[in-house]
Amino acid sequence: MIKRLKQQLSSSPYLLVLSLFLPLIGFFIYANFYSSRFFIALILSLVVEIGYLVFGYMHLTSRQSALSLEKQDYRERLNLLEAEIQRERQTNEALRQKIASYLQLKELTERLGLSFSLTETAATFCRGIHAVYGGQNNTVILYLFRPRTRELSLTVSFCENNPVLLKVRNGDFYDRWVVKNTKPLLVEDTKNDFRFDADKISAGDGRMVRSLISAPLLVGEKSIGIVRMDRANEHHFTTDDLRFLTTIAGPGAVALENVQLYERVQELAVRDSLTGLFLRRYLMDRLSDEISGHFRRQGAFSFLMIDLDHFKKYNDRFGHTAGDIVLRTVGAMLAEMFRNPADVVCRYGGEEFAVLLPDCPKEKGLDLAQQFRKDIEAQTIVLRREKTRITVSVGVAGFPGDAHGRDELIQKADAALYKAKSNGRNQVVGV
Ligand code: GH3
Ligand code: MG
Ligand code: MG
Repeated sequence: MIKRLKQQLSSSPYLLVLSLFLPLIGFFIYANFYSSRFFIALILSLVVEIGYLVFGYMHLTSRQSALSLEKQDYRERLNLLEAEIQRERQTNEALRQKIASYLQLKELTERLGLSFSLTETAATFCRGIHAVYGGQNNTVILYLFRPRTRELSLTVSFCENNPVLLKVRNGDFYDRWVVKNTKPLLVEDTKNDFRFDADKISAGDGRMVRSLISAPLLVGEKSIGIVRMDRANEHHFTTDDLRFLTTIAGPGAVALENVQLYERVQELAVRDSLTGLFLRRYLMDRLSDEISGHFRRQGAFSFLMIDLDHFKKYNDRFGHTAGDIVLRTVGAMLAEMFRNPADVVCRYGGEEFAVLLPDCPKEKGLDLAQQFRKDIEAQTIVLRREKTRITVSVGVAGFPGDAHGRDELIQKADAALYKAKSNGRNQVVGV
């Protein structure tokens, strides 16, 4: 339409020339023929032509302004369309990112179910969260509750996919807020949040934390800990980020609860219910491991067999329940004395105990056994409001000096124990 108008406008000069040219021709004819009628006709034709020109010009001007209005309208519509396309593009991009995040979440959930170890599952969980958010300098922290005290206990912390050492090991004010309220938390700027006193909080840990998101780990109604992500600059996390963390926390909590239960069941299967010490079955496996390990590492170890002296008398005098208290006391003292992570303290059966001391030559084993015997002798146990004492006899054997294999080692330690009994009890005898 604009083109057509332009064509019309561009033809107007020709009309003008033509309209000037026509009177000249008329004048020429008039000069030749002196016809007054023709002159009048010429004047009339001129008037008509001028009128036509004025009318044409006015028509064109009004048409031009109408078209420029139309053009403005089209431009506005075009701008609106462009803005809408931009918005659509942004929505599409956000949607694409969301789909990618949910795919990562699906993958993470699948990976969480693959491990039976709490340490591994916790690490997979934190690494997965770090990857989903993709933010450099994000620190992901996982706290789980201690089973008895229900205190938060630092389980894993990652920054840039590497473990980080945190000073605050049982959570700070923000973490306690999440535990207390059992609600997700977003702090956009720690220095400008009316709910928390930033000065008091930052004193706990040397790290700079300006923004954070945190969510409770819930399995049904039960909370098993919290997961948190923080960083040194403010206004980094959004409500969308918090919503996503809460979504991830769901399957994460279930996986962590499952491995915790699995590890507890495993633990129960190898622990004696009365004393909490290892069972004989576990000791046998560990002895076999230690013997095969010896041939690789050449490390000598000691093996102790411990039996309570005249225990039957305690049972007869104070009753079976009181006897259990004695067994528990002796078990706790054994666990306290031999508390190296590698030591295996076991209730061998009835009122007999056994201790495997890796990387411990027999001489040292004998010394430790002697120390334990003295400690037990010095210990008073109150049974039915009566102070009483108990003694133990101990047989000590060393590997590889005293035996070639597991059963022979146990047999030798047992024989030494028998000797301690027959020599008068309350003593330590080495093979
Ligand atoms: P010795 O000095 O020769 O070892 O004498 P002892 O009386 O300790 O040995 P004996 O083998 O005659 O008796 C062991 C007692 O330990 C018999 C049993 O009633 C008791 N006993 C075994 N297991 C338990 C237990 O779980 N609880 C209690 N209370 N007593 C137990
Ligand atoms: Mg006994
Ligand atoms: Mg016995």
